Amino acid sequence: MLSEFPDIKGREKSGKGVVECDTKPKHALNIGQPRVIMEVGDDGVAVITISNPPVNALALTIFDGLKEKYAEAMRRDDVKAVVLTGDAGKFSGGFDINVFERVHRTGDGSILPETSISVAVNVIEDGKKPTVAALQGLALGGGLELALAAHARIAAPNTLLGLPELTLGVIPGSGGTQRLPRLIGLPKALELMLFSKPITSEEGNDLGLVDAVVPSDELIKASRQWALDIIERRKPWIRSLHRIDKLGSVPEVVDIIKTARQQAKQSFKNVPQHQACLDVIEEGIIHGGYHGILKESSVFKDLIFTDASKGLVHAFFSQRATSKVPNVSDIGLKPRKILKVAIIGGGLMGSGIATALILSDIYVILKEINSEYLLKGIKAIEGNVRGLVSRKKLPKGKAEKALLMVKGTLDYSDFKDVDMVIEAVVENIPLKQKIFADIEKACPPHCILASNTSTIDLNVIGEKTKSQDRIIGAHFFSPAHMMPLLEVVRTEETSAQVILDLMNVGKIIKKVPVVVGNCTGFAVNRAFFPYSQSAHLLLHLGVDLFRIDQLISNFGLPLGPFQLQDVAGYGVVVATTEIFRTSFPDRTFQSPLVGLLLKNGRNGKNNGKGYYIFEKGSKPKPDPSVLPIIEESRRTINIMPGGKPISVTDEEIIQMILFPVVNEACRVLDEGVVVRASDLDTASILGMSFPSYRGGIIFWADTIGADIIYKSLQKWSELYGNFFRPSRYLEERATRGIPLSAPAATSPAAKARL
Ligand code: NAD
Repeated sequence: MLSEFPDIKGREKSGKGVVECDTKPKHALNIGQPRVIMEVGDDGVAVITISNPPVNALALTIFDGLKEKYAEAMRRDDVKAVVLTGDAGKFSGGFDINVFERVHRTGDGSILPETSISVAVNVIEDGKKPTVAALQGLALGGGLELALAAHARIAAPNTLLGLPELTLGVIPGSGGTQRLPRLIGLPKALELMLFSKPITSEEGNDLGLVDAVVPSDELIKASRQWALDIIERRKPWIRSLHRIDKLGSVPEVVDIIKTARQQAKQSFKNVPQHQACLDVIEEGIIHGGYHGILKESSVFKDLIFTDASKGLVHAFFSQRATSKVPNVSDIGLKPRKILKVAIIGGGLMGSGIATALILSDIYVILKEINSEYLLKGIKAIEGNVRGLVSRKKLPKGKAEKALLMVKGTLDYSDFKDVDMVIEAVVENIPLKQKIFADIEKACPPHCILASNTSTIDLNVIGEKTKSQDRIIGAHFFSPAHMMPLLEVVRTEETSAQVILDLMNVGKIIKKVPVVVGNCTGFAVNRAFFPYSQSAHLLLHLGVDLFRIDQLISNFGLPLGPFQLQDVAGYGVVVATTEIFRTSFPDRTFQSPLVGLLLKNGRNGKNNGKGYYIFEKGSKPKPDPSVLPIIEESRRTINIMPGGKPISVTDEEIIQMILFPVVNEACRVLDEGVVVRASDLDTASILGMSFPSYRGGIIFWADTIGADIIYKSLQKWSELYGNFFRPSRYLEERATRGIPLSAPAATSPAAKARL
């Protein structure tokens, strides 16, 4: 029942028969009144068209319009059959998600329309005249559910079809859970729903979801003919809800659902919608489609009030909001074309960034220090691209074409016509300063000068140039061709045009750009620097490291803090701890542990031995032989009260790891490093894999309450020291009872940044 799902939108492309990518906030685009139009032809077919730009979202008034037009079509003697379609090349993106947001905000579920029986069953499926759905562009969520209730579906090529409701914490609510398995069989229907996986009309045709694929310009004509053929009994009049031929026997169904339950339990922790979806499907198959529909409606209404749905809907709108940046996106500027980008440094990050650019048809010049390193960089890019092909994420032809878009170089001669440079050399201030002075001379005056630094102040990097307005941070996350977040780091001097251009490049290469201010660690790394530090502090207070990792992974982060360090490598851990210690000495916890691990020949995943043992082909296993090293570190700093391990509950452990992150996130908000609190939610989800069903770090914190977080930190700071000391922002919010997400009263620091 939903519209414009973020993961699906990433697959949309512009061009004939496919969908324009829309990234603007819904309410800003919802120009024109939602309406339903009906035209009756001489052939006796009424074409009913849903119109609600940009994606024909099913606003509440659309359902009223459908009922009205259908009533007229059923009444009129000159109408024999109906073709249901959408305006402007799209069928429908699904139910209007703004309604969900309203339900969450007001707690009033009565504004949700009851459409499953009243529209899908009574009006369309059980209507006394047949309906053919004419699909093009997209038919998602509630849009596809209306089409499933029709008696046949004809589609234009490349139409995107899917039921991605579970990504918003609910299930299909207009009969999708019942009709999809009946049309395409249970295993495939489960894949589409549980994994929110869209398919094209061609795949839909092979599966039996779509009855015919016809050229776009013949869609309405072919659909009219099909509708007349149904009336004249040349084609079958099929009510999907009554079909059982593709369902299999009851024991088969029970078996498939049992396996799906186990898989869903592993893949989707802490959220109820996957198991609920399976319950509803099972009910319908065992007790009949109509029973299934009734259960679907009631489960849908329960699920919308779950924390998971609230978190996921918040995450959806937060991500959309990131493209609105005051004084950048709202002052009439247009992004300039970026056709050619030079990347300096072909290491881990440079090769990943180059991969992302060439996959989106942006020409790349890759510069390295010598031919050996250059070759290594080019090979890394090839490896990235071919890896996507072998994982079936990229067609081979597209991969070969992309690889022709990169050219290696050892000097600046090819920089004379580049539109942007992204520097990705090692984290070294004099080296970066020298490179920026060089590129200022080598590049044209319009060229954007970007750095992928993860920590260094951009003002320092650009100190030796006169181009401060063109200097910007392009902070990608590793692996850069896979991770979706791009922090666009602006200084006080970066021009609005340059910020907009980089945001636009980010969107072109399918990242989510979040504009952030210039500070140590920027938004995500800054807010999360206490994450591993609090884990180390707890470890030295006597808590078991594997217990900590397990609890954090149960909470929903993919890797616990210790396993994360193993994967990152201890060199990175030492370097970043030092950087944060320098910037925030009052709240950095330090122990000799990582040094001791290195001394004992451990370097995490790099050499297969860290807190865990890494062996090819198997999951990392906790390594008990690390425990004596931990004991040595504990003895050295000796911080356990009375020399004994502290006693803490599982819940306290999670809080002692994550509340300090919330505390630092509060400082990020206070200093105006992000435009709005929800940007930090998006950044935490996309950059740190914070669970999206918890809505992001600040949204999650607000579900607990500033007051509780403040009091806990206060208590721990008295017991265990300054590391936990609550920030001024948190204290103020807690005392005044204001949510952390409420707009910040701009502090002087914030004003300077934004
Ligand atoms: P890396 O060591 O893998 O690669 C750096 C490359 O730069 C090397 O191949 C080196 O030969 C090359 N280089 C050095 N001087 C050069 C010059 N003058 N001209 C051309 N090439 C030169 O480092 P990395 O991990 O890719 O990090 C690069 C930058 O990205 C750093 O600023 C780092 O802080 C930042 N970053 C890293 C990560 C990460 O997870 N590794 C994440 C975000 C940002």
